[in-house]
Amino acid sequence: MAGVTLRLDGARWREHLRTVVASTPEIVPVIKGHGYGYGLGWLAGQAAELGVDTVAVGMTAEVGPVQERFDGDIVVLYPFDRRDVRDDPDDRVLRTVSRLDDLRALATRPGEPRVLVEVATSMRRHGIAVEELTDVGEWLDGVRFEGWTIHLPLRADGRQAEARRLGRAALDVAAGPLWLSHLPPEQLTRLAANLGGEAGPVQVRGRVGTRLWLGDPDGRATTATVLDVHPVRRGERAGYRGRVCRSDGYVLVIAGGTSHGVGLEAPTPAASVRQRATALATGSLAATGRALSPFTVAGRKRWFLEPPHMQSSLVFLPAGARPPAVGEDVPVELRLTIATPDRVVVD
Ligand SMILES: *Cc1c(COP(=O)(O)O)cnc(C)c1O
Repeated sequence: MAGVTLRLDGARWREHLRTVVASTPEIVPVIKGHGYGYGLGWLAGQAAELGVDTVAVGMTAEVGPVQERFDGDIVVLYPFDRRDVRDDPDDRVLRTVSRLDDLRALATRPGEPRVLVEVATSMRRHGIAVEELTDVGEWLDGVRFEGWTIHLPLRADGRQAEARRLGRAALDVAAGPLWLSHLPPEQLTRLAANLGGEAGPVQVRGRVGTRLWLGDPDGRATTATVLDVHPVRRGERAGYRGRVCRSDGYVLVIAGGTSHGVGLEAPTPAASVRQRATALATGSLAATGRALSPFTVAGRKRWFLEPPHMQSSLVFLPAGARPPAVGEDVPVELRLTIATPDRVVVD
Protein backbone atom coordinates (compact mmCIF):
# COMPACT_ATOMS: atom_id res chain seq x y z
CA MET A 1 0.00 0.00 0.00
CA ALA A 2 1.33 3.44 -0.92
CA GLY A 3 2.13 5.93 1.82
CA VAL A 4 4.60 6.66 4.58
CA THR A 5 5.63 3.58 6.52
CA LEU A 6 7.35 3.27 9.87
CA ARG A 7 9.11 -0.08 10.05
CA LEU A 8 10.37 -1.57 13.29
CA ASP A 9 12.85 -4.35 13.81
CA GLY A 10 10.52 -6.38 16.02
CA ALA A 11 13.09 -8.22 18.14
CA ARG A 12 15.02 -5.04 18.75
CA TRP A 13 11.90 -2.99 19.50
CA ARG A 14 10.71 -5.48 22.14
CA GLU A 15 14.18 -5.69 23.65
CA HIS A 16 14.41 -1.90 23.92
CA LEU A 17 10.97 -1.65 25.57
CA ARG A 18 11.82 -4.41 28.02
CA THR A 19 15.10 -2.71 28.96
CA VAL A 20 13.44 0.64 29.67
CA VAL A 21 10.59 -1.00 31.60
CA ALA A 22 12.98 -3.08 33.68
CA SER A 23 15.18 -0.12 34.59
CA THR A 24 12.40 2.38 35.43
CA PRO A 25 10.69 2.04 38.82
CA GLU A 26 6.98 1.22 38.28
CA ILE A 27 7.02 2.73 34.82
CA VAL A 28 4.03 4.70 33.54
CA PRO A 29 4.23 4.89 29.73
CA VAL A 30 2.97 8.20 28.34
CA ILE A 31 0.65 7.88 25.32
CA LYS A 32 -0.57 11.23 24.04
CA GLY A 33 -0.94 13.61 21.13
CA HIS A 34 -0.19 11.97 17.78
CA GLY A 35 1.05 8.93 19.71
CA TYR A 36 4.75 9.63 19.12
CA GLY A 37 4.17 8.79 15.44
CA TYR A 38 2.70 5.34 16.13
CA GLY A 39 -0.80 6.44 17.05
CA LEU A 40 -2.60 6.31 20.40
CA GLY A 41 -4.38 2.99 19.86
CA TRP A 42 -1.29 1.20 18.60
CA LEU A 43 0.79 2.35 21.59
CA ALA A 44 -2.01 1.38 23.98
CA GLY A 45 -1.79 -2.14 22.53
CA GLN A 46 1.96 -2.15 23.10
CA ALA A 47 1.49 -1.03 26.72
CA ALA A 48 -1.00 -3.86 27.22
CA GLU A 49 1.55 -6.36 25.88
CA LEU A 50 4.18 -4.94 28.20
CA GLY A 51 1.92 -5.77 31.11
CA VAL A 52 2.13 -2.36 32.81
CA ASP A 53 -0.75 -1.50 35.16
CA THR A 54 -1.03 2.20 34.32
CA VAL A 55 -0.45 4.55 31.37
CA ALA A 56 -0.74 8.34 31.13
CA VAL A 57 -2.56 10.33 28.44
CA GLY A 58 -2.40 14.07 27.87
CA MET A 59 -6.08 14.98 27.71
CA THR A 60 -9.43 13.53 28.68
CA ALA A 61 -10.35 13.09 24.99
CA GLU A 62 -7.47 10.61 24.66
CA VAL A 63 -8.84 8.27 27.32
CA GLY A 64 -11.36 6.69 24.91
CA PRO A 65 -8.95 5.54 22.17
CA VAL A 66 -6.45 4.28 24.74
CA GLN A 67 -9.11 2.45 26.76
CA GLU A 68 -10.11 0.42 23.70
CA ARG A 69 -6.76 -1.36 23.73
CA PHE A 70 -5.58 -1.09 27.33
CA ASP A 71 -7.40 -2.45 30.40
CA GLY A 72 -5.42 -0.82 33.20
CA ASP A 73 -5.57 2.58 34.87
CA ILE A 74 -5.18 5.79 32.89
CA VAL A 75 -3.78 9.04 34.26
CA VAL A 76 -4.84 12.30 32.57
CA LEU A 77 -1.87 14.69 32.70
CA TYR A 78 -3.71 17.92 31.82
CA PRO A 79 -4.80 19.65 35.00
CA PHE A 80 -8.39 18.91 36.00
CA ASP A 81 -10.63 21.96 35.62
CA ARG A 82 -13.79 22.07 37.76
CA ARG A 83 -15.54 24.13 35.05
CA ASP A 84 -15.17 21.40 32.46
CA VAL A 85 -18.60 19.78 32.43
CA ARG A 86 -17.51 17.08 29.96
CA ASP A 87 -14.95 15.75 32.39
CA ASP A 88 -16.73 12.71 33.73
CA PRO A 89 -14.20 9.90 33.64
CA ASP A 90 -14.79 6.49 35.13
CA ASP A 91 -13.14 4.61 37.93
CA ARG A 92 -10.14 3.60 35.86
CA VAL A 93 -9.13 7.21 35.34
CA LEU A 94 -6.85 9.20 37.64
CA ARG A 95 -7.15 12.94 37.36
CA THR A 96 -4.29 15.35 37.91
CA VAL A 97 -5.33 18.21 40.15
CA SER A 98 -3.11 21.27 40.02
CA ARG A 99 -5.09 23.97 41.86
CA LEU A 100 -6.53 24.06 45.36
CA ASP A 101 -9.91 25.30 44.11
CA ASP A 102 -10.21 22.30 41.83
CA LEU A 103 -9.26 19.90 44.60
CA ARG A 104 -11.87 21.45 46.88
CA ALA A 105 -14.51 21.16 44.12
CA LEU A 106 -13.75 17.47 43.57
CA ALA A 107 -13.62 16.72 47.29
CA THR A 108 -17.02 18.26 47.96
CA ARG A 109 -18.76 16.52 45.02
CA PRO A 110 -20.49 13.20 45.51
CA GLY A 111 -18.34 10.14 44.87
CA GLU A 112 -14.67 9.56 45.47
CA PRO A 113 -12.72 10.50 42.35
CA ARG A 114 -9.20 9.15 41.98
CA VAL A 115 -6.75 12.02 42.23
CA LEU A 116 -3.08 12.83 41.83
CA VAL A 117 -2.08 16.18 43.30
CA GLU A 118 0.50 18.10 41.30
CA VAL A 119 3.28 20.02 43.01
CA ALA A 120 4.54 23.11 41.16
CA THR A 121 8.17 22.87 40.04
CA SER A 122 10.69 25.42 38.75
CA MET A 123 9.08 24.95 35.33
CA ARG A 124 6.18 27.12 36.52
CA ARG A 125 3.81 25.08 34.38
CA HIS A 126 1.10 23.50 36.53
CA GLY A 127 0.88 22.64 40.19
CA ILE A 128 0.18 23.81 43.70
CA ALA A 129 2.97 25.93 45.15
CA VAL A 130 5.02 24.21 47.80
CA GLU A 131 3.99 26.86 50.37
CA GLU A 132 0.31 25.95 49.86
CA LEU A 133 0.73 22.20 50.15
CA THR A 134 -0.38 22.13 53.77
CA ASP A 135 -3.85 23.29 52.62
CA VAL A 136 -4.09 20.19 50.44
CA GLY A 137 -4.25 17.94 53.49
CA GLU A 138 -7.69 19.05 54.59
CA TRP A 139 -9.34 18.03 51.28
CA LEU A 140 -7.78 14.62 50.75
CA ASP A 141 -10.50 12.80 52.71
CA GLY A 142 -13.03 13.72 50.03
CA VAL A 143 -11.11 12.03 47.22
CA ARG A 144 -9.25 8.81 46.61
CA PHE A 145 -5.71 10.19 46.92
CA GLU A 146 -3.35 8.25 44.61
CA GLY A 147 -0.16 10.20 45.12
CA TRP A 148 1.82 13.30 44.23
CA THR A 149 2.91 14.25 40.75
CA ILE A 150 6.04 16.26 40.04
CA HIS A 151 6.94 17.29 36.49
CA LEU A 152 10.58 18.33 36.49
CA PRO A 153 12.31 20.41 33.82
CA LEU A 154 14.49 18.65 31.23
CA ARG A 155 17.50 20.69 32.38
CA ALA A 156 19.55 18.40 34.59
CA ASP A 157 21.15 21.14 36.66
CA GLY A 158 19.70 21.05 40.20
CA ARG A 159 16.88 18.70 39.20
CA GLN A 160 17.69 15.98 41.70
CA ALA A 161 17.84 18.47 44.58
CA GLU A 162 14.54 19.99 43.50
CA ALA A 163 12.90 16.54 43.35
CA ARG A 164 14.14 15.84 46.88
CA ARG A 165 12.96 19.15 48.28
CA LEU A 166 9.48 18.98 46.70
CA GLY A 167 9.08 15.27 47.41
CA ARG A 168 9.90 15.80 51.06
CA ALA A 169 7.45 18.72 51.38
CA ALA A 170 4.67 16.69 49.74
CA LEU A 171 5.23 13.55 51.81
CA ASP A 172 5.15 15.67 54.98
CA VAL A 173 1.54 16.53 54.08
CA ALA A 174 0.38 13.05 53.06
CA ALA A 175 1.99 9.70 52.37
CA GLY A 176 1.60 8.35 48.83
CA PRO A 177 3.53 7.39 45.75
CA LEU A 178 5.52 10.09 43.94
CA TRP A 179 4.92 10.19 40.18
CA LEU A 180 7.82 11.84 38.41
CA SER A 181 8.76 12.81 34.86
CA HIS A 182 12.16 13.37 33.32
CA LEU A 183 14.33 11.86 36.02
CA PRO A 184 16.70 9.12 34.81
CA PRO A 185 16.03 5.69 36.40
CA GLU A 186 19.05 5.72 38.70
CA GLN A 187 18.04 9.12 40.06
CA LEU A 188 14.50 7.87 40.69
CA THR A 189 15.88 4.97 42.69
CA ARG A 190 18.22 7.24 44.62
CA LEU A 191 15.41 9.69 45.35
CA ALA A 192 13.18 6.89 46.66
CA ALA A 193 15.93 5.70 49.01
CA ASN A 194 16.84 9.19 50.12
CA LEU A 195 13.25 10.22 50.94
CA GLY A 196 12.49 6.95 52.69
CA GLY A 197 15.52 6.99 54.98
CA GLU A 198 15.57 4.26 57.62
CA ALA A 199 12.03 3.14 56.81
CA GLY A 200 13.09 1.93 53.34
CA PRO A 201 12.50 3.52 49.94
CA VAL A 202 9.28 5.44 49.30
CA GLN A 203 7.18 4.44 46.30
CA VAL A 204 8.15 6.29 43.10
CA ARG A 205 6.74 5.90 39.59
CA GLY A 206 8.61 7.06 36.49
CA ARG A 207 6.56 8.51 33.65
CA VAL A 208 8.29 8.03 30.31
CA GLY A 209 7.26 8.93 26.77
CA THR A 210 9.98 9.81 24.30
CA ARG A 211 12.73 7.68 25.85
CA LEU A 212 10.48 4.63 25.80
CA TRP A 213 8.81 4.92 22.39
CA LEU A 214 11.51 6.73 20.45
CA GLY A 215 14.64 5.87 22.42
CA ASP A 216 16.15 3.43 19.90
CA PRO A 217 16.37 5.32 16.57
CA ASP A 218 18.55 2.66 14.92
CA GLY A 219 15.84 0.06 15.46
CA ARG A 220 13.43 1.73 13.04
CA ALA A 221 13.26 3.11 9.52
CA THR A 222 10.78 5.32 7.71
CA THR A 223 10.06 5.04 4.00
CA ALA A 224 7.75 6.73 1.49
CA THR A 225 6.26 5.36 -1.72
CA VAL A 226 7.15 6.90 -5.08
CA LEU A 227 3.75 7.71 -6.61
CA ASP A 228 4.84 9.00 -10.03
CA VAL A 229 7.95 9.79 -12.07
CA HIS A 230 8.02 12.39 -14.87
CA PRO A 231 11.04 13.08 -17.08
CA VAL A 232 11.56 16.85 -17.59
CA ARG A 233 13.96 19.02 -19.57
CA ARG A 234 15.87 22.00 -18.32
CA GLY A 235 13.71 25.14 -18.37
CA GLU A 236 10.39 23.28 -18.28
CA ARG A 237 7.96 24.14 -15.55
CA ALA A 238 6.33 21.83 -13.02
CA GLY A 239 4.30 21.96 -9.80
CA TYR A 240 1.47 24.10 -8.42
CA ARG A 241 3.73 27.09 -8.66
CA GLY A 242 5.17 26.37 -12.07
CA ARG A 243 8.73 26.16 -10.83
CA VAL A 244 11.38 26.10 -13.55
CA CYS A 245 13.53 22.95 -13.57
CA ARG A 246 17.18 23.90 -13.41
CA SER A 247 18.44 20.97 -15.42
CA ASP A 248 17.26 17.86 -17.23
CA GLY A 249 15.98 15.24 -14.83
CA TYR A 250 12.84 13.88 -13.25
CA VAL A 251 10.01 15.25 -11.18
CA LEU A 252 9.22 12.63 -8.54
CA VAL A 253 5.88 12.62 -6.76
CA ILE A 254 6.50 10.95 -3.40
CA ALA A 255 4.03 10.07 -0.64
CA GLY A 256 4.47 12.24 2.45
CA GLY A 257 3.36 15.83 2.84
CA THR A 258 2.54 18.34 5.51
CA SER A 259 -0.13 16.06 7.02
CA HIS A 260 2.64 13.54 7.71
CA GLY A 261 4.93 16.19 9.13
CA VAL A 262 7.13 16.41 6.04
CA GLY A 263 8.67 19.86 5.81
CA LEU A 264 7.56 20.78 9.31
CA GLU A 265 9.95 21.59 12.08
CA ALA A 266 9.44 21.89 15.80
CA PRO A 267 10.89 25.15 17.11
CA THR A 268 14.53 24.38 17.78
CA PRO A 269 15.68 24.19 21.39
CA ALA A 270 19.18 24.81 20.00
CA ALA A 271 20.90 27.27 22.27
CA SER A 272 24.22 27.83 20.56
CA VAL A 273 24.90 29.56 17.25
CA ARG A 274 26.48 26.35 15.99
CA GLN A 275 23.38 24.27 16.82
CA ARG A 276 21.20 26.82 15.08
CA ALA A 277 23.41 26.83 12.01
CA THR A 278 23.12 23.03 11.88
CA ALA A 279 19.34 23.27 12.14
CA LEU A 280 19.32 25.68 9.21
CA ALA A 281 21.59 23.52 7.11
CA THR A 282 19.48 20.41 7.66
CA GLY A 283 16.27 21.57 6.13
CA SER A 284 14.57 24.73 7.30
CA LEU A 285 12.21 25.58 4.45
CA ALA A 286 12.57 29.26 5.17
CA ALA A 287 16.34 29.28 4.98
CA THR A 288 16.67 29.50 1.20
CA GLY A 289 14.40 29.52 -1.82
CA ARG A 290 15.33 25.89 -2.24
CA ALA A 291 14.95 23.33 0.48
CA LEU A 292 16.52 19.95 0.87
CA SER A 293 13.83 17.32 1.19
CA PRO A 294 13.95 14.50 3.74
CA PHE A 295 13.68 11.92 0.91
CA THR A 296 16.74 9.92 -0.13
CA VAL A 297 16.71 8.91 -3.80
CA ALA A 298 19.61 7.16 -5.56
CA GLY A 299 21.87 7.53 -2.55
CA ARG A 300 21.29 11.09 -1.39
CA LYS A 301 18.78 13.60 -0.14
CA ARG A 302 17.13 15.47 -3.00
CA TRP A 303 15.77 19.01 -3.30
CA PHE A 304 12.10 19.80 -3.11
CA LEU A 305 10.79 21.21 -6.37
CA GLU A 306 8.32 23.24 -4.30
CA PRO A 307 7.05 23.14 -0.72
CA PRO A 308 5.35 19.85 0.19
CA HIS A 309 1.63 19.37 -0.47
CA MET A 310 -0.73 17.92 2.10
CA GLN A 311 -0.06 14.23 1.41
CA SER A 312 2.71 14.17 -1.17
CA SER A 313 5.78 16.09 -2.22
CA LEU A 314 7.39 17.04 -5.54
CA VAL A 315 11.09 16.29 -5.52
CA PHE A 316 13.60 16.97 -8.29
CA LEU A 317 16.04 14.27 -9.39
CA PRO A 318 18.73 15.45 -11.82
CA ALA A 319 19.50 13.44 -14.98
CA GLY A 320 22.28 10.95 -14.48
CA ALA A 321 20.79 9.52 -11.29
CA ARG A 322 18.74 6.34 -11.70
CA PRO A 323 15.07 7.26 -11.25
CA PRO A 324 13.09 5.05 -8.86
CA ALA A 325 10.21 2.92 -10.13
CA VAL A 326 6.64 3.91 -9.35
CA GLY A 327 5.65 1.95 -6.26
CA GLU A 328 9.21 1.79 -4.89
CA ASP A 329 9.70 2.84 -1.28
CA VAL A 330 12.51 5.33 -0.62
CA PRO A 331 13.97 6.35 2.75
CA VAL A 332 12.47 9.47 4.34
CA GLU A 333 13.87 11.12 7.44
CA LEU A 334 11.11 12.09 9.87
CA ARG A 335 11.17 13.42 13.40
CA LEU A 336 8.58 11.22 15.02
CA THR A 337 7.95 13.69 17.83
CA ILE A 338 6.10 15.73 15.18
CA ALA A 339 5.57 13.33 12.26
CA THR A 340 2.71 10.92 11.55
CA PRO A 341 3.36 7.95 9.26
CA ASP A 342 0.41 6.17 7.63
CA ARG A 343 1.22 2.79 9.13
CA VAL A 344 3.50 0.92 11.46
CA VAL A 345 4.97 -2.41 10.36
CA VAL A 346 6.78 -4.68 12.78
CA ASP A 347 9.21 -7.03 11.01
C1 LIG B 1 4.30 14.61 28.01
C2 LIG B 1 4.64 14.37 29.42
C3 LIG B 1 5.58 13.39 29.75
C4 LIG B 1 6.30 12.58 28.72
O1 LIG B 1 7.30 13.39 28.17
P1 LIG B 1 8.45 12.77 27.29
O2 LIG B 1 9.40 13.89 27.17
O3 LIG B 1 7.81 12.38 26.00
O4 LIG B 1 9.00 11.59 28.03
C5 LIG B 1 5.84 13.16 31.08
N1 LIG B 1 5.21 13.87 32.04
C6 LIG B 1 4.31 14.82 31.77
C7 LIG B 1 3.63 15.54 32.88
C8 LIG B 1 3.99 15.11 30.45
O5 LIG B 1 3.09 16.06 30.16
